[in-house]
Amino acid sequence: MTVYCDTKFFKHHFFLYLTMKLGNLVQDQWVEGGGDARVLTSAVTGEPVATLSSEGLDFKAMLDHAKSVGGPNLRKLTFHERGFMLKDLAIYLNDHKQEFYELSTQTGATRRDSWPDIDGGISTVFVFSSKARREMPNDRVYLDGPPEWLSREGTFVGQHIFTPKLGAAIHINAFNFPCWGMLEKLAPTLLAGVPAIVKPASSTAYLAELMVRRIIESGILPKGSLQLICGGVGDLFDHLTCQDTIAFTGSKYTAEKLQAHPRVVSESVAFTAETDSLNMSILGPDATPGTPEFDLYIKEVVREMTAKAGQKCTAIRRIIAPANIAGEVTAALSRALGEVRIGNPALKEVGMGALASQGQRDEVRERVADLAAEAEVVFGGVDDFEVVDADAGKGAFFMPTLLHCEKPLTSKAVHSVEAFGPVSTVLPYDTLDEAIELARLGEGSLAGSIITNDNDVARELVLGTAAYHGRMVIINRHCAAESTGHGSPLAHLVHGGPGRAGGGEEMGGVRGVLHYMQRTALQGSPETLSHIGHRWIRGADQKDPGVHPFRKTFEQLEIGDTFNSKPREVTLEDIDHFAEFTGDTFYAHMNEEEAQKNPFFEGRVAHGYLIVSFAAGLFVDPDFGPVLANYGVDDLRFLQPVNYGDSLKVRLTCKQKTLRGDTGYGEVRWDAEVTNQDDEICAQYDVLTMVATDAHWKSVQ
Ligand code: NAP
Repeated sequence: MTVYCDTKFFKHHFFLYLTMKLGNLVQDQWVEGGGDARVLTSAVTGEPVATLSSEGLDFKAMLDHAKSVGGPNLRKLTFHERGFMLKDLAIYLNDHKQEFYELSTQTGATRRDSWPDIDGGISTVFVFSSKARREMPNDRVYLDGPPEWLSREGTFVGQHIFTPKLGAAIHINAFNFPCWGMLEKLAPTLLAGVPAIVKPASSTAYLAELMVRRIIESGILPKGSLQLICGGVGDLFDHLTCQDTIAFTGSKYTAEKLQAHPRVVSESVAFTAETDSLNMSILGPDATPGTPEFDLYIKEVVREMTAKAGQKCTAIRRIIAPANIAGEVTAALSRALGEVRIGNPALKEVGMGALASQGQRDEVRERVADLAAEAEVVFGGVDDFEVVDADAGKGAFFMPTLLHCEKPLTSKAVHSVEAFGPVSTVLPYDTLDEAIELARLGEGSLAGSIITNDNDVARELVLGTAAYHGRMVIINRHCAAESTGHGSPLAHLVHGGPGRAGGGEEMGGVRGVLHYMQRTALQGSPETLSHIGHRWIRGADQKDPGVHPFRKTFEQLEIGDTFNSKPREVTLEDIDHFAEFTGDTFYAHMNEEEAQKNPFFEGRVAHGYLIVSFAAGLFVDPDFGPVLANYGVDDLRFLQPVNYGDSLKVRLTCKQKTLRGDTGYGEVRWDAEVTNQDDEICAQYDVLTMVATDAHWKSVQ
């Protein structure tokens, strides 16, 4: 990093910042852009923080590097190995987070604002790491659902798979969450096995750049897996191919422009967008003043208006409240907003910091003027207000501003103008149908919330508005204390929304990883597809392991290893004994006449759990061995009634193996099939076991 020691110094509390020229990370080297660098200023003091330029970078070479170095390096690793890599990265960033918090103040963020950006970003990486290890195979191909049976004899089957795209993921991020915005895209991308080229928004790029420096210093990521552009993207788009993906966050205007790029169109480059949003929050008619829900609503709206000074894509912009109490809602909100102290975000007593830049403040002022054409400003909206420990003339401070729109059903601006700051409008409604119509007028949002303790109201509003929302939260007195709130996207849940919100989708656990992969429908023989996917499919070869498969360690077991049990007859005494022993005396097991009246049975039948229990007795190898535990069954189906006198046998086939890191064991999934004397399938299921590795097994013998 070049530091210009002859440029401006300024001191802000305990931290000394130098105006630094941000680096671009190109082909694993830090490179400075040429030409006139753009000066980035502090949102709080208006003083320069950094300069940036990406002029002269070889963007085509960056793409080539991602494809030829980053992609192959990442694709060598299994999903679990990539998951462990993310975990190491999250731990490393967590150890360095203090410096991110310090620099984040310059973006105008209070410590409370920085928390979702920095800690929220790091915890997103942790969640993806753990999702990889729990929900994805320890392999390099991801199987999408069960096989499809395409032929009568079962010799030709189908299987959907996902494999990593062979290009780069271009991440274009918004200015409001320089850390989280980068990490929430980066974690699923790396997990997919795809390298990323990140372009942070210029105004807060200094924080994203610092984080990338720490990521690279950690040495955790393989070469070529991450590159950074601080500034414009030059001719990058001209070199994109169908193997690249663009994940964009920002304004709808920019999204539309980039999506229409001729190369994006001609190459069908995957493009996912998270854009503007006029998010709504509905107060249920039951939540009158004096109820816990009314107080929760006021708290939620004020938090959403003031957190990050309202610069959250998920912030509540439209407050949809029952008309008969709209006045009380407005009064309570105004009172609470009046208590928020605005100023230097480094101070604890300050509840709201500054907007990201003076330009942003001017933009919000203009948008409030647009809104005021249809709505009345009832709180804020003035330039002269108290600012704590900061120069109001230099910092990008803006007073929280509340508007009230008397005729929201016929107004346009309140449903279409996004003032990206601490600004929100009260929209009164008379009936639930009206509330639904108002919500829909936003034409697609990232997040919506409903505050009600009436579950009928909740259902009616959700069914009426969910199609316009990517995520909805219903808050009442029972969940409020643990609720993550209206505006917090979570790594486990999808983030994105229809229409104005961009039509994209990110995160949502494994769903978010798959956006960077290609789904392919495979067709072939069960043996071939089992071999490709490392998961045994019925109809594939059944291998004779030579010994009972329970005598084999994790490494020794082969997919397809099969054990066929001896037969065992089910007697009426067995059914009586099982019924008496377990207490399950359901009539179909106990009473011949009543069982015959049941359309499924010809007479008394064995309990399903008796079949499964007998099956375990038939396939188990009881002696001390490498199989450590049975930890469940999946997809259990009883397909044929078992009558007394029937004779059961079991086939148990090693279906899938998933090594659990260096724990000394791995998960082995077995395909179990219980058949009767006529070879009819009575039960089918997967048995899940933990099996010791060679090393562990040797150590305990
Ligand atoms: P913006 O102008 O659209 O910028 C977004 C990103 O696009 C920035 O990184 C910007 O870089 C980049 N960009 C702009 N023009 C580009 C071009 N021609 N080629 C490549 N990249 C280009 O949006 P903004 O005004 O900074 O951000 C505020 C908006 O973002 C709001 O409308 C807000 O609702 C939305 N937002 C949405 C979400 C979400 O998750 N849906 C999250 C946050 C914000 P430069 O900074 O260098 O121009």
